[in-house]
Amino acid sequence: MSCLFCKIIEGSIPSTPVYQDELCYAFADIHPQAPVHVLVAPREHIVSMADCNEEDRALLGHLLWAAAEIAREKGLDKGYRAVVNTGGDGGQSVDHLHVHLLGGRPLAWPPG
Ligand code: AMP
Ligand code: ZN
Repeated sequence: MSCLFCKIIEGSIPSTPVYQDELCYAFADIHPQAPVHVLVAPREHIVSMADCNEEDRALLGHLLWAAAEIAREKGLDKGYRAVVNTGGDGGQSVDHLHVHLLGGRPLAWPPG
């Protein structure tokens, strides 16, 4: 297994856990871009959102629900952003699906 996030999820590479359940594992981003920067990844190895199929519809919803739960738990009551970088043009650098949860400061739009 060569996937960085699979290794993080199985525990062979350390991470700072934020939330976990039977479907996903959420951990602190190692290079935070905001006071709160959490990655929510499915336990199952799926490369990207572009690789999801009909069977993954509930899982995709679950990842966003988990991000919202974490945001509530972190007290992000002024707002936050959930982002899924996808593929080269989308700026994805780790090929294991993940939702970025960013918050704790005003976030500019549009992104770069
Ligand atoms: P993306 O560019 O959307 O694929 O996001 C990958 C994210 O993973 C980046 O924000 C990185 O900072 C983060 N990252 C890379 N390696 C680690 C690691 N070992 N632990 C936590 N986050 C990481
Ligand atoms: Zn993986």
